[in-house]
Amino acid sequence: MTGRLAGKSALVTGASRGIGRATALLLAREGAAVAVNYAERGDAAEEVIATIRQAGGQALALRADVASQPEVAAMVTQALDAFGRLDVLVNNAAVSHPGNLLTLDEARLDEMIGVNLKGVVHCCRAATPGMIERRSGKIVNIASIAALGTALPDTTPYAMTKAAVITLTKRLALELGPHGINVNAICPGFIRTEMAAASVDERGFEAIAGKAMLGRIGRPEDIAAAALFLASDEAAFITAQILTVDGGRTDFLSHSG
Ligand code: NAP
Repeated sequence: MTGRLAGKSALVTGASRGIGRATALLLAREGAAVAVNYAERGDAAEEVIATIRQAGGQALALRADVASQPEVAAMVTQALDAFGRLDVLVNNAAVSHPGNLLTLDEARLDEMIGVNLKGVVHCCRAATPGMIERRSGKIVNIASIAALGTALPDTTPYAMTKAAVITLTKRLALELGPHGINVNAICPGFIRTEMAAASVDERGFEAIAGKAMLGRIGRPEDIAAAALFLASDEAAFITAQILTVDGGRTDFLSHSG
């Protein structure tokens, strides 16, 4: 395969649908062999790898709950067995349960912390030893503009986990920079996926679109393009950065009267 990631291999968590799916497809189109992680929707993950293979790419689907350290370790071992190395890790898997910080049920709070935050830690721990050995690697974490100060109701616990991902990104960049590894994060705005559709209806999408400078809701491909850039050699001197990809939404909010 030719392309910006030719000869590289990548693991994208939560790649059976939404932003992760679009990212897996794009990285594969740019030449990477891609491990497509999922939690439950094996059929959707199979569709993603079939699409990649039909286009001449290399892919495999790997089930693992990223909140489980042993499952992540087994998944990374399988990816390494198949591809020989991992050059790129995109930590995308997350869950979002509505509720406020004072009342959200403990089990749901634990699940969000487990998947959204500890999941990133588990995947980074499992994937970095090879990167450290080769003195090269790219980690892209998917955070959210929720961590930057939006005010959608019932998103505070989720926002808290995403804020932690931002700090984790900067601190991991500090720890891994001397090993030649770049660690960056993307803060997507509102992107049309199942996760977004679970919290707003069509009228809500329209209202949110009107609050972005570009006047539209994001597409999974908008985030995939940013992830590709951060995973590519073009981003070789970029680390510890938080890239907001929101059509100008957060800036619009801070400029509105
Ligand atoms: P989505 O449509 O709900 O897809 C979530 C993906 O994560 C699925 O592939 C799902 O796998 C996987 N997943 C869930 N729990 C998992 C677990 N425990 N272990 C492994 N995989 C798991 O979400 P999305 O909207 O594409 O969001 C992707 C990322 O962008 C998330 O980090 C989200 O927080 C962030 N984000 C989204 C938006 C937005 O507006 N959509 C905005 C800001 C940030 P299964 O299919 O197997 O369930």
